Amino acid sequence: MVLDVRAPSCEANRSRDVGGIVLGIESTAHTFSIGWVDGLGVPGQSKSAFVRPVEGGIHPREAADHHAEKAGGILADLLNEDVDLKDIKAIAFSQGPGLGPCLRIGASVARSLAIQLDVPLVGVNHCVAHIEVGRERCGCDDPVLLYASGGNTQVIARLDGRYRVLGETLDIGIGNMLDKFAREQGIPFPGGPKVEQLAQEWLAENPNASLNGLELPYAVQGMDLAFSGLLNAALNLVKKGVPLAAVCWSLQEHAFAACVEVAERAMAHAGKQELLLGGGVACNERLRNMCHIMTESREGTSHVPVKSLCIDNGSMIATLGRLQLLWGAPTNLNDSAVRQDLRTDETPILWN
Ligand code: AMP
Ligand code: MG
Repeated sequence: MVLDVRAPSCEANRSRDVGGIVLGIESTAHTFSIGWVDGLGVPGQSKSAFVRPVEGGIHPREAADHHAEKAGGILADLLNEDVDLKDIKAIAFSQGPGLGPCLRIGASVARSLAIQLDVPLVGVNHCVAHIEVGRERCGCDDPVLLYASGGNTQVIARLDGRYRVLGETLDIGIGNMLDKFAREQGIPFPGGPKVEQLAQEWLAENPNASLNGLELPYAVQGMDLAFSGLLNAALNLVKKGVPLAAVCWSLQEHAFAACVEVAERAMAHAGKQELLLGGGVACNERLRNMCHIMTESREGTSHVPVKSLCIDNGSMIATLGRLQLLWGAPTNLNDSAVRQDLRTDETPILWN
């Protein structure tokens, strides 16, 4: 099969006006968020609520109850402050992938609003939304995306009209791995930012820090990744008495190097010069820095949206909803059931 690898340009998307606001509803996992874009795709501020489990991971049913409880207040806030009902031209929502009970809350809110306002409903692929918000906001046209979030870790590139997953985690997402490691140390969810802070403190105290004695298994498996071995080995180092901050530093170095290696090979394989970061873990300064170093050495470029657009948010859902509306068709009510297992490459790319 000959793949079409022509670089598209997202410039054309920015000059077309849908004539009003597209609302976007995100509810795939721990975040319930409603955001919006204007007719030209410029995002407004999302209003969000986050489930923060006191102990253990996210319980899908409890997270869904949280979303159902928060939805009305978040919508009211948005309508009071930023958005006029009469300007809304379409309602986009995360159709998948994600936790079924959580997805169903967002989809129900979206369907009710679309029916009430008599505007089109647009179901979107959450992973693709991370890519499109980054492309549009960072002005990169044809990137390899390193999507590093709580539940997902994927390296994705546009090939032959689809976003193809060139590499991904075979077990847990990198964010979940950081959160689990942190939880075992008594650090509440989300653990990633605290692991980053401890790693930075270790480096500040040990400017010539070495990985000697802090070695962890390498997470690369061919073009894929696996983080559970890394997690167990890091937990064992702490149990052996190695300082927590040192282990946090080593954990980041190993986990991020693995992601960046796969991303680099994907760039080489797909012949792409741009790297785009997305997902909550893309807030991490060390990961950003490693991506920058890698792309610079290849004479490529590295891009990352503002942090509020890296984490799960409604505005990125609205961004993709607007594109689908411009270039495709709305979602019929009958086709609006949620898809827990929706794959990145199942969504045809109709837009530039
Ligand atoms: P998301 O699933 O995309 O909403 O992102 C949430 C995940 O991002 C959680 O696993 C967080 O621990 C992780 N995260 C957020 N900020 C950072 C950071 N600065 N460093 C590492 N991980 C982070
Ligand atoms: Mg996400």
